[in-house]
Amino acid sequence: MKQPMPARFLAAFLLIPALAITACSTVPYTGRKQFTIMPEDQMQQMSLEAWQEVQKEHPVSKDPAKTAMIERVGKRIAAVVEVDYAWEFNLLQADDVVNAFCLPGGKVAFYTGILPICQNDDGIATVMGHEIAHAFAHHGNERVSQNAIVQAGLTGAGFAFKNQSPETQQTLMSLLGAATNVGVLLPFSRAQESEADEIGLRFMIRAGYNPNEAVALWERMAKQSAGKEPPVYFSTHPASADRAQHIRSLIPKITEEEKGRIGQRPAGTPTKSIGEQQKKAIGGQAEKK
Ligand SMILES: [Zn+2]
Repeated sequence: MKQPMPARFLAAFLLIPALAITACSTVPYTGRKQFTIMPEDQMQQMSLEAWQEVQKEHPVSKDPAKTAMIERVGKRIAAVVEVDYAWEFNLLQADDVVNAFCLPGGKVAFYTGILPICQNDDGIATVMGHEIAHAFAHHGNERVSQNAIVQAGLTGAGFAFKNQSPETQQTLMSLLGAATNVGVLLPFSRAQESEADEIGLRFMIRAGYNPNEAVALWERMAKQSAGKEPPVYFSTHPASADRAQHIRSLIPKITEEEKGRIGQRPAGTPTKSIGEQQKKAIGGQAEKK
């Protein structure tokens, strides 16, 4: 007996070929081709909901000096990135979480557990640049899109984060880079990691930070993970001596390319303005903060 195809499954099959026509884009600076099918306003909505989940789990830090440090570095880097996101820089209190993320659309969070490895503004700028680069290069959208192909239901019309099962919600959190439960973490791909390193390094150099500190930071990361159960950041970020070496090799070329743009947004680079879209998607909730 033939079972009728579930409606949302069918909808997905009809949607995918239509979307695929316009879904291939090129990542600025690296030129890598990527596949993104999720509409930007849906990514904004998912990010807002993921953010609410994150806040249920970990409170915002009450340390004004450390919070100010995250904001200071975040604003300085955001000022030179050629996208108009609704930026927000948060420090979350969780000494056991060695992690940071930037949700699509610009909500950034550092957990207090990563600060000892960052050590200073340049170290924070390294992680900040890297996480912002993931958002800038639409890695979240790319991962949700890939997942949607596998789990066809996600692309059905009217998809909403809150209506998903807890498992799917956790998977989405993870795809956005915001999950802290190691059991469900899905690593960014090697290509995405390497791309975030490269673009993040460019952003920190442009913002006037010391790129040699990026090499030092990844060396500290590698040292901390040696012989121990790797914390979140390591399981999602394959830290290694190779990685520090890769960054070291990029410094002369990118420093040269960014000369003359220090402290400013480059002219003539692709600009994606989603700030207005995001404000609309979240119904003015950003204004409250
Ligand atoms: Zn990463």
